[in-house]
Amino acid sequence: MNEKVRCLIIGSGPAGYTAAIYASRANLSPVLYEGMQPGGQLTTTTEVENFPGYPSGTTGPELMEDLKKQAERFGADIRFGMATATDLSAAPYKVTIDGDKVIEAETIIISTGATAQYLGLPDEQKYAGSGVSACATCDGFFYRKMTVAVVGGGDTACEEATYLSGLANKVYLIVRKPFLRASKIMQDRVFKNPKIEILFEHETLGLTGEGVVQGADLVKRRGQADEEKVHIDIDGFFLAIGHKPNSDIFKPWIETDAVGYIKTLEGSPRTNVPGVFASGDVSDPHYRQAITAAGTGCQAAIEAERYLSERGL
Ligand code: NDP
Repeated sequence: MNEKVRCLIIGSGPAGYTAAIYASRANLSPVLYEGMQPGGQLTTTTEVENFPGYPSGTTGPELMEDLKKQAERFGADIRFGMATATDLSAAPYKVTIDGDKVIEAETIIISTGATAQYLGLPDEQKYAGSGVSACATCDGFFYRKMTVAVVGGGDTACEEATYLSGLANKVYLIVRKPFLRASKIMQDRVFKNPKIEILFEHETLGLTGEGVVQGADLVKRRGQADEEKVHIDIDGFFLAIGHKPNSDIFKPWIETDAVGYIKTLEGSPRTNVPGVFASGDVSDPHYRQAITAAGTGCQAAIEAERYLSERGL
């Protein structure tokens, strides 16, 4: 027999846990499935300096552990497991967990976040786990006193380059445009860091090395009259070029934009399916911050409570 729940929360980042805090305090008896990466993207971050309430900063894993404990304190049922399929054709909505168990939910809060993007080079797969990584804080430790490259020009790339400079001897930042997109404060940190060399207007063609990454072939000013091939010797190659929203299993039912971000009604977490709400990075191409994710998780739980009470469920 399928398990029936009033409120199913899918995902365990700041959005999912905040939704769980609010939903459990509203007596919705929420069940939360944590997904592949319990705690979400923040568990791969070190310092978090901009989450309100932590004047001295905290770490990503600590922040997520605090949010989880707070949700459990009010009775949220937090479980290991991954939502693998959905049938949102009619309420109660069906969500398959780990390809096996089916949960029937009156309301669903989708907080599945987003996943790191890759360039799409065959070499990224060839050297996966052998020098290629999309998480500096997870893998940076392996590159102590070595030379690494980070690809990207946004806040993530600057943050990862700065983090890696504390471990590695040298960090190349490979940026395809002639400028960084990152916030001013992050740019300043990178510019001032003597261990970081920024390669503006460079793109990666491929990686080289016997079994492990030992170098990268780049092209400078591709397509211009002065286009130039460049080779750098590196031991690690880190991707920091953005994220893909984890919305695939909802796409038959839920409207998304061209990238895959779930579309919500302006200023609310409501999707096109009544009783199904989206919060956090899966529906946010603009802000993608822990605090905005937490805020929309709160909104989603309040909406779920109203939806249920309006229908006497
Ligand atoms: P962004 O989308 O902001 O930046 C992605 C970067 O990767 C851009 O420089 C982009 O280049 C580059 N890029 C994308 N595709 C390719 C490609 N195929 N080849 C080469 N370069 C590529 O993503 P982030 O992950 O950096 O940030 C996401 C959001 O999270 C942002 O809103 C950011 O502000 C926020 N954030 C905040 C942090 C903080 O406040 N501490 C930390 C980390 C992230 P181009 O500019 O040419 O498009």
